[in-house]
Amino acid sequence: MRRTILIVGAGPAGLSLARSLAGSPHKVVLIEPQPREVLAAPPPDGREIALTLRSERILARLGAWQHIPEAEKFPLTEARVRNGKSPFALSIGSGQTGALGHLVSNHLIRAALFKAVDGQPNVELRCGRKVVQAHTSPAGAEVTLDDGTRLAADLLVAADTRFSQTREQLGIGASVERFGHTMMVGRISHTKAHGGVATEWFEYGRTIALLPLGEGMSSLVLTLPDAEARRVCALSDADLTALYAGYLGDEWGAIALETRPSPYPLAMTYAERFSGPRCALVGDAAVGMHPVTAHGFNFGLLSAWRLARVIAQASDPGEPSRLKRYAIRHRVATTPLYQATLHLVGLFTDERRRARPIRAGVLRLGALPPVRKAMIRLLSEPGVA
Ligand SMILES: Cc1cc2nc3c(=O)[nH]c(=O)nc-3n(C[C@H](O)[C@H](O)[C@H](O)COP(=O)(O)OP(=O)(O)OC[C@H]3O[C@@H](n4cnc5c(N)ncnc54)[C@H](O)[C@@H]3O)c2cc1C
Repeated sequence: MRRTILIVGAGPAGLSLARSLAGSPHKVVLIEPQPREVLAAPPPDGREIALTLRSERILARLGAWQHIPEAEKFPLTEARVRNGKSPFALSIGSGQTGALGHLVSNHLIRAALFKAVDGQPNVELRCGRKVVQAHTSPAGAEVTLDDGTRLAADLLVAADTRFSQTREQLGIGASVERFGHTMMVGRISHTKAHGGVATEWFEYGRTIALLPLGEGMSSLVLTLPDAEARRVCALSDADLTALYAGYLGDEWGAIALETRPSPYPLAMTYAERFSGPRCALVGDAAVGMHPVTAHGFNFGLLSAWRLARVIAQASDPGEPSRLKRYAIRHRVATTPLYQATLHLVGLFTDERRRARPIRAGVLRLGALPPVRKAMIRLLSEPGVA
């Protein structure tokens, strides 16, 4: 009997899952409110995604990596983390041969995944429609779309972002951490070379990161309290350039604004369960990471890949033991980095004086060879479980 899998949301996680299930005996229906033209050619959203080598391998197996132009894959050779004005930098990746991964614009990843999914014989894309009601029981799953259409399935997968309505409708709670800070991302050009190195400073009152893109080009990532971020986003190009130049000093030479900043209010979310009767969660709907450790997409891809592995060839993809196996593995794989990120964000946004020596101490501790090795493993191959 042919089984049906409904995926709510055609973001990177939903598309990755649909592509991972292409060629399986199941019928896959992907529901997404955005129109097909936007999915095929999403506009730039300012995000530059740091992909681990493992994610690149998965994207290649999904037939998506090949659709990203080579000139748009920017190698990341090292990441340096600094505490305020201290000259000491914790380095991740120095002395390694080869890149830690690549930076690729989010819209290009989404376009590549869409290309890989579009036209797969067992995958149906329902664009321009939203799921407004979802219900599952051991007997089956059912959703209602915003035009009143009802669809039944053997398995329902929520991939509809960190504040997933589907997750809520399924009665699955989530822990939510809001930070009162907004991350702004946009491109600058500069006259000095970045050498493929990403640099992040935890200042007092703000965090800045420069992510290396093409020659003389970086993504500037600025995190500020929400009200301050709103003020910065409203500055003119000239005032914004002057502000950035003041923050960066002369280290990158003369700078120019290439794109306006896109703001993202920061929150981390972690679902109480990643599966239930005839349902599962993937991507941000399961684990909504803080971008500071750059793992939301990497985890989302891993969740889709991992879920597909347990259900693709099953006679019944909604079988509880299979969904539980997925849920346990993904939880074990994501908990360490999620918790580490939560503590890191807490420490580096703690403006009290007594937090300052702790921050410096944490970075020095991170420089010890065994800790550094463990960190590289945690960041480059997370979720090996
Ligand atoms: C500034 C920034 C930088 C980042 N940098 C990195 C990085 O360097 N590395 C990394 O790994 N990750 C990074 N991330 C995280 C990454 O972008 C996300 O984890 C990833 O986009 C999540 O994908 P998703 O498919 O789960 O969710 P989304 O991309 O949010 O997609 C959800 C989809 O569901 C659809 N949807 C919503 N509601 C419904 C509904 N009711 N019915 C049907 N469809 C619905 C939406 O339209 C959307 O298309 C960053 C994030 C930010 C904000």
